[in-house]
Amino acid sequence: LKYFTVNLSPNVRILQDMEGSLTARDRVGIQDFVLLDAYTSETAFMDNLRKRFNENLIYTYIGTLLVSVNPYKELGIYTKKQMDIYMGVNFFELPPHIFALADNVYRTMISETNNHFILISGESGAGKTEASKTVLQFYAVCCPSTRLLDNVRDRLLLSNPVLEAFGNAKTLKNDNSSRFGKYMDIQFDHQGAAVGGHILSYLLEKSRVVHQNRGERNFHIFYQLVEGGEDELLRWLGLERNCQKYRYLIQGECAKVSSINDKSDWKTVQKALTIIEFSEKDIEFCFVFATHFSLFPFFIIYSCQLLGIPLNMLQEGLTHRKIEAKAEEVLSPFTAEHAKYARDALAKAIYGRTFSWLVNKINESLANKDSTRKTVIGLLDIYGFEVFDVNSFEQFCINFCNEKLQQLFIQLTLKSEQEEYEMEGIEWEPVPYFNNKIICDLVEEKHRGIISILDEECLRPGEATDFTFLEKLEEKMCGHPHFVTHKLADPKTRKTLERGDFRLLHYAGEVTYSVVGKFHLMQTVSLSLHTSDHFDDVMVRHQVKYLGLMEHLRVRRAGFAYRRRYEVFLKRYKALCPDTWPHWKGTPAEGVQRLIKHLGYKPDEYKMGRTKIFIRHPRTLFATEDAFEI
Ligand code: ATP
Ligand code: MG
Repeated sequence: LKYFTVNLSPNVRILQDMEGSLTARDRVGIQDFVLLDAYTSETAFMDNLRKRFNENLIYTYIGTLLVSVNPYKELGIYTKKQMDIYMGVNFFELPPHIFALADNVYRTMISETNNHFILISGESGAGKTEASKTVLQFYAVCCPSTRLLDNVRDRLLLSNPVLEAFGNAKTLKNDNSSRFGKYMDIQFDHQGAAVGGHILSYLLEKSRVVHQNRGERNFHIFYQLVEGGEDELLRWLGLERNCQKYRYLIQGECAKVSSINDKSDWKTVQKALTIIEFSEKDIEFCFVFATHFSLFPFFIIYSCQLLGIPLNMLQEGLTHRKIEAKAEEVLSPFTAEHAKYARDALAKAIYGRTFSWLVNKINESLANKDSTRKTVIGLLDIYGFEVFDVNSFEQFCINFCNEKLQQLFIQLTLKSEQEEYEMEGIEWEPVPYFNNKIICDLVEEKHRGIISILDEECLRPGEATDFTFLEKLEEKMCGHPHFVTHKLADPKTRKTLERGDFRLLHYAGEVTYSVVGKFHLMQTVSLSLHTSDHFDDVMVRHQVKYLGLMEHLRVRRAGFAYRRRYEVFLKRYKALCPDTWPHWKGTPAEGVQRLIKHLGYKPDEYKMGRTKIFIRHPRTLFATEDAFEI
């Protein structure tokens, strides 16, 4: 039960409370945590979240941040009618919604002609991918379009089922878990029409091709092909319509999943491939490479034919090591174990390259040929933080990625916000928060971090083992507050660690990684429960804590919603005051002072910084805007 998404858009403005009567407020909670009376208490925060969840109100704001709790059921809140309601309406006028965020980002991008980014974070199963698809849907429906642009729109939308087929899989946490990170640019022309896009993919979890833990599957596309592929295609690929025949597909012992219809998903993917303009040859290519070698590791002759490689070359490569000695090449045979490893490595490499090729093809199809300047809305959807009973290199990469995203989140919100107050000389009681940079450094620091040490060990083939790697880590990380192993632990903690483990204290919690064999085959199965209408207090509270939402709220609550450089503020509003209109001769700061005095700003509503004016509540500014319009 992991459901808690934080969607962050650093450029979205703040909104106001608009819930009506007190009774309604009691029942449905408050839609912006900033307006919660007992704002500093975690209990009040949780009560509000729970109240809203029980009323199917999954979205709540913390100022600029949209918090969403995964309902695990259809709520009927993403219809065209809902889109119409949110389109072009001021953020604060309607209940929180991802459409409100999408719409606000879009309109700000157009009016300010600058790029905007929506970062979506949360642990596995929290609803990040669904959120990113909802945003894309919103733009597809709501942006101006022409027949020509409809093509772009369809391709943008249909890139999703294709990438999900090849890059998502059922895990214990999520039946449609993203196993790659995705950053998507949607490009808009000056009229706000979506004219193109570009996708960057990160770190596909290739090891899944050859190994899955119990209760998990390989990438969806394999099952789609076997279940839904046309007879002729299967015959050509030499495949049988039976997943049980393929070891790579059944290690998780759950080839069939009740929530997934592989047959109909196959049709969707086929249709999508055609619309994204994959030729028949491209589609063939993609299945030969993606599926064939992975599914038929032993049918080497057939594999060679389809891959177009001479048989002896592949045979030799999979069964022998080539050693170069004194300008001579010596072939030394692998053990069976090594040969299996080589086979798996090849399957992973082929799949990984096919995936990159697929992303490139999609990008060609999304590319905007027109060279005029575009503005961009970027959507980042990565794989969420995950902890299993046994965690290996894949979880290490995924969790590190989340660690970096949290670092970015901190930088963009808690850190920069507070630094700006300090720089501007605004009186400010600093809000302490946990900065996870120490963990990022532990992993990535040059020459000293875990990745550097792993790289070094990889350069010593034959000498380095899993245990020499662990020993090196112990030597370098000894005493680090976020790193512990069996050897380094105190007696109580030692009982919870195996000799081949290291444990990292991530921002989101402790994770024990096994260095043994890198692709660990053991798995006790933990129960995965995705239930609707269930709000698990302990789990949600944990996420509220580690995402730093209370700290975020404190900064927001004590901080200022709006800030502008004096020049900009004065230029915009000087017409509202006879002293500043049409020309103000003094300094911009004095001009602003005069202007707001005339407008009747109260002392607690604003602060004057060194170069900017800071306004506490958006309503102050809205009132100024209204006066301006009158
Ligand atoms: P991962 O990190 O594993 O990729 P994720 O955060 O991307 O996880 P999603 O795949 O978006 O998680 O969501 C998991 C499932 O939760 C979805 O398949 C869907 O069933 C359900 N879900 C997510 N968001 C919503 C929503 N807004 N309304 C209804 N159901 C949802
Ligand atoms: Mg996802």
